[in-house]
Amino acid sequence: MSTRIIAEKKREYIFGPVPSRRLGRSLGVDLVPFKTCTYDCIYCQLGRTTDKTMQRKEWVPIDIVIDQLKEKLSSNKPDYITLSGSGEPTLFSQLEELVSRIKDITDIPVAVLTNGSLLWLPEVRKALKSADMVVPSLDAGSSQIFQYVNRPHLDITFSKMLQGLVEFRRDYSGQYWLEVFLLAGVTTPEAEVNRLRTCIAAIQPDKVQVNTVTRPPAEGFAESVPKKQLETITKKLYEKAEVIADYRGVHKEEDFSIRCEDILTLLKRRPCSIEDIAAGLGIHRNEVVKYIEELSSEDKIETRPQNQQLYYKAQT
Ligand code: SF4
Repeated sequence: MSTRIIAEKKREYIFGPVPSRRLGRSLGVDLVPFKTCTYDCIYCQLGRTTDKTMQRKEWVPIDIVIDQLKEKLSSNKPDYITLSGSGEPTLFSQLEELVSRIKDITDIPVAVLTNGSLLWLPEVRKALKSADMVVPSLDAGSSQIFQYVNRPHLDITFSKMLQGLVEFRRDYSGQYWLEVFLLAGVTTPEAEVNRLRTCIAAIQPDKVQVNTVTRPPAEGFAESVPKKQLETITKKLYEKAEVIADYRGVHKEEDFSIRCEDILTLLKRRPCSIEDIAAGLGIHRNEVVKYIEELSSEDKIETRPQNQQLYYKAQT
C-alpha cells in the first residue's frame, strides 16, 4: 500500500488533535460515515442528515481504526481520545470492543460524545460503560420540542430517549456530562425551561453544559440565545450547570492559526462547502468545522445556503 493511500485512510477515521471546549486537545475518532445519525437536528453544524438510521453495525473497519490510532498516538499525546465524528457514534456496533482495545494501547482517557438517543438499548449502555467520560445531549423537555429540534428517527420517542438517559446514569460510574443545546424562542420559554429542569433532575448528571448556536446551523431558523439570557437559564436548569465557555482562547496555537489562514485564502478564491475545503486541503471534515467556527466567530467569513448545502466565503 502506498504512503499516499495510508495517509488518505488516516484522514478518514482519525482527526486532530483539535482544541475542544471541553476536553483540551482532543484526538477524534470518526466511527460512522458523514451525517449517519439517528437525529437530524435543526442546529447541526454538519448540515442535514443524509442517512437517518437506527442500524447499528461496523460502519468502519475496527482493525484499521486501531492501527491508525496507534500510529497517530506515536507522535501525539492528546488530553482525550474522543469518539464522535460526523454522525452518531453509538451506531457503531463494535463500540465496546473499540473502547477496550483503546484501553489496551494507551492510558489516555476516552470520551464519547453522543446524542444519547440510543441509551435505552441495554447493549449501548453496556458498550459505553468503560469509557472515562460520556457526554450525551438533551435538547428538549417535551415530546413536541424534541420532534421539532432533533427530528429523530421514527422509532425514537421522547420518553424512550429520556428513559435511556436516566437508566444510563444508574449503570455508569464515569463522568456523565449532559449537553443542553438551547434555541431562541424554542427552548427559552419558561414552561420549556421548567420541563428541561425536571428532566435533568431525573437524570442527575455530574455536570450540565449549556450551549447554543455559534456556527452556521443546518436550518437558518435555528437561532442563537443571547449570552445573558443563556446565563440566566443555565442557573435555573441545574446546580452544576455552566455555559460552555467561549473557546477562542484555546485556538491560539500556531498550527491552528496557519490552517485558518489556508482556509481563508481558499475562501477568498471561491465559495466552498465543508467537503470542498476538506478535499482541497486534505484535512478531515470535523477538523474543518473547528476552523470554520473560529473564522465565523471572528467575522472573517460568511455563509450562504445553496442546493441544500452551506457554502462559506471570505468577507470582503
Ligand atoms: S447535531 Fe449531532 S445528533 Fe444532531 S444531527 Fe448533527 S450529528 Fe446528529
